[in-house]
Amino acid sequence: MTENFEEIYQAAKKQVKAHLSTHRYEHCLRVSDYAVKLAKQNNLDEQQAALAGLVHDYAKERSEADFLEKIDEAKLPKSLKAWGNPIWHGVVGAEFVKDELGIEDPEILQAIRLHTTGGLHDEMTTLDKVVFMADYLEEGRHFPGVKEARAITEKSLDRGVFYQLSHTLAFLADKGQVIYPKTFDAYNDWANYLK
Ligand code: GDP
Ligand code: FE
Ligand code: FE
Ligand code: FE
Repeated sequence: MTENFEEIYQAAKKQVKAHLSTHRYEHCLRVSDYAVKLAKQNNLDEQQAALAGLVHDYAKERSEADFLEKIDEAKLPKSLKAWGNPIWHGVVGAEFVKDELGIEDPEILQAIRLHTTGGLHDEMTTLDKVVFMADYLEEGRHFPGVKEARAITEKSLDRGVFYQLSHTLAFLADKGQVIYPKTFDAYNDWANYLK
């Protein structure tokens, strides 16, 4: 990435800490660590993965008003306004990261945008997959199946992505929650690709 990575990383860490509760800040540190582990296994730039993991939930605790304002300011589709924090903190959150942390790497910004819903298989870069999976698998996650998910992902990052897509979809549907169309599209696309 750059020679002054350590400086950039430490500055971002301070900002992330200042904007999040302790439990979510610690989640971000663990996602950063897990992203480095997955980057090593998948021949990806470890510094880029560390930084993307660190900042992926930067905007998670912003108010609804902040998100709605940012959707207008960044000229994002108005249709986004019908959604809520679970969708906004990634798609709109990337704009806060760009504007407030000064991170302009388009690959990092895309990984933030896709970290909750995933994306189509040919849209997702290795970095996108690494951040998506690190968020799901970081060492503080203890949901049933997490060990299996870690083992699958260690063998195949793509199989891990599909494991998460199918389990999250089933989890949301089981609770009767509204599902974002991109979540369905990603699931169908990966199901076709891996069949
Ligand atoms: P976190 O930010 O570390 O908690 O993790 P994520 O960004 O991956 O997910 C945030 C929340 O969004 C979780 O509760 C997911 O279950 C939920 N989520 C994921 N996909 C969808 C979706 O399509 N629709 C809705 N409503 N929620 C979703
Ligand atoms: Fe998130
Ligand atoms: Fe996630
Ligand atoms: Fe997260």
